[in-house]
Amino acid sequence: MSALVEVAELEVAYGDIAVVKGVSLEVREGEAVAVIGPNGAGKTTLFKAIAGVVRSRRGAVRLHGERIDALRHYEIVRRGVVYVPAERELFPQMSVLENLELGAYASYASRSERMRFVLDLFPRLRERRKQLAGTLSGGEQQMLAIGRGLMARPRILLLDEPSTGLAPFFVKEMYRQLARLKQEGLTILLAEQQVPHALAFTERAYVLENGRIRLSGASRDLLGDPEVQRSYLGVA
Ligand code: ATP
Repeated sequence: MSALVEVAELEVAYGDIAVVKGVSLEVREGEAVAVIGPNGAGKTTLFKAIAGVVRSRRGAVRLHGERIDALRHYEIVRRGVVYVPAERELFPQMSVLENLELGAYASYASRSERMRFVLDLFPRLRERRKQLAGTLSGGEQQMLAIGRGLMARPRILLLDEPSTGLAPFFVKEMYRQLARLKQEGLTILLAEQQVPHALAFTERAYVLENGRIRLSGASRDLLGDPEVQRSYLGVA
């Protein structure tokens, strides 16, 4: 299976300080892949660089073999690489429907069909479609952030810490919906602090520490890896 997204020797810096230090990884079509690691390891920066939100200073990002790292963010979104930020970045004074509309890069004709797809996936958003985004619960805001990403018809969704601030019930609920999307063939790259969830949901994972990949492999193997267990799963 060829890679949908390939990251090769990527280096990203803020000023003089390198935060992503020669990272290589790949995500194949239809796969769910996790990037785990402690706070400040560089996960968000890596995702932003893949999505063209920040620029890399060395290395390459390829989509189906074609370099995309020099493109502008919106051109990368158009090609189907969609980043859902941990901070959600919704417009609190706009309604659920308006926030979803803002994610739509599709043509006007297919927009309503896409909207239906998102509202079918998240019935809760349909119920609250006229409500202001700022009045939604944390779990609903996360659904809205993912829904807005889906409006752009992603080929790959880069989900940054989707469980941040969610009660356990909503975390479970969100992963159920992500599993549905995965079943429908969506490719997912996931950064997650909740390591057991991330490793249970994905087929493969990379451990990022201090800007470098320290470990990688099948998620179920990493679940049994003593180093992962000690550092991320609280096993003594
Ligand atoms: P977290 O889970 O806390 O978000 P992370 O693994 O996603 O962590 P990043 O957010 O990518 O890590 O941060 C990596 C490093 O880069 C950190 O030391 C952080 O302080 C620094 N950093 C992040 N954004 C900026 C910025 N805009 N300017 C300068 N430094 C930054």
